[in-house]
Amino acid sequence: MSEIETIKKHVKYLSVTIGPRGSTTLGEKQAAAYVANVYSNLGLSPIIEPFRSAKSAWLPFALGTGLILVGEVLYLVGGFYGLLFAILISVFALSSLVLELMFKQNPFRLILPKGDSQNVSVKIPSEGLSKETVILIGHLDTHRMPIAYKSQRWVAFFRSLTTTTFASVILLLILFIADIFFEWIIIPLLSLVFIIPVVFLFLMASFADMTDYTAGANDNATGAAIVIGLVERVLKAPLQNTDIWAVGSGCEEVGAYGADAWIKKHIHEVEGAIFLTLDNLGGKGAGPCYLKKETLIFPFESDPQLLKIADKIAAENPDLGAFSREMKAAYTDGAIGNKAGLRCLTFVNYTPAGVIPDWHQPSDVFENVDWNVVQRTEEFVWRLIQKIDSDKL
Ligand SMILES: [Zn+2]
Repeated sequence: MSEIETIKKHVKYLSVTIGPRGSTTLGEKQAAAYVANVYSNLGLSPIIEPFRSAKSAWLPFALGTGLILVGEVLYLVGGFYGLLFAILISVFALSSLVLELMFKQNPFRLILPKGDSQNVSVKIPSEGLSKETVILIGHLDTHRMPIAYKSQRWVAFFRSLTTTTFASVILLLILFIADIFFEWIIIPLLSLVFIIPVVFLFLMASFADMTDYTAGANDNATGAAIVIGLVERVLKAPLQNTDIWAVGSGCEEVGAYGADAWIKKHIHEVEGAIFLTLDNLGGKGAGPCYLKKETLIFPFESDPQLLKIADKIAAENPDLGAFSREMKAAYTDGAIGNKAGLRCLTFVNYTPAGVIPDWHQPSDVFENVDWNVVQRTEEFVWRLIQKIDSDKL
């Protein structure tokens, strides 16, 4: 079977045979078992490593904005002590949310419900002396289909809503503090204006978990299947000086818990390694696209040397049609690799207009995957791996 045919088979199994693979659900577990089975059949020895993860991407935001709403009510009706409580609650909620957006431990992570998930990974050592390690990671879980992703307009609205909400919460805090010193009527009136985006975000976050999970053909059966396809390539054409780790991660969609658990467990073996994240690689008319940086609220920069090599491959192979861009108001497993000090480059196939097709929508199904895009992306990443192996960075 040709490369693209086996990748197609894996995407079909993940997105059609298994279907929705919500974080910490049975579908996600079946996906890990499937990938492990594929590697075993290739004569490799995959490992499945369990970890605990949040079940929802949205609950921390429902809780945080909910607490700020409680603070606003206390401020309006609770007198001086209500005002003090409002300040305390808002500071607590805001700092917890900022930590959440940095993928760091925070009080919300401690209280919100957790479930069992797993990573599946396998190592293919180099033929010769090992001089470099490349980790290929593609997540196995799928997201829900909340209204925030319903159309490009909703995506744009949601993006500006999150920014506006954070700015509003900071302004609310300033108003609360100002109220200690000045008893102006304008202060509570203004607080009623700044609470509006908080209400909207609270509603959107609260209802998000009532929607179903996507079949996740593009996001991210394509990335997970290309990781397997690249392992098959390495087995056929072994690398001389590069060890490969292939990782199918769990729970990316709820805060990249799987990538975090995998890196924490393996950091002693992969310190300073190259971390290539593959996510959303088969949208119609998209990519191949590699990220210059990804910014949820703080920027995670791609490795400059890897970017340079990718730019060179893109320039030398115009037939692949590859380009680079920045990712804003979203994240990938790459953020976790970056946080751990690994040298990162992430592939997310945007269209030239800056859209990830079918992203967290009911249309993210097998029939909508663009196989030509998948093939060109797999070829691009393979060339990058070969270049790394021959250059020994
Ligand atoms: Zn994804």
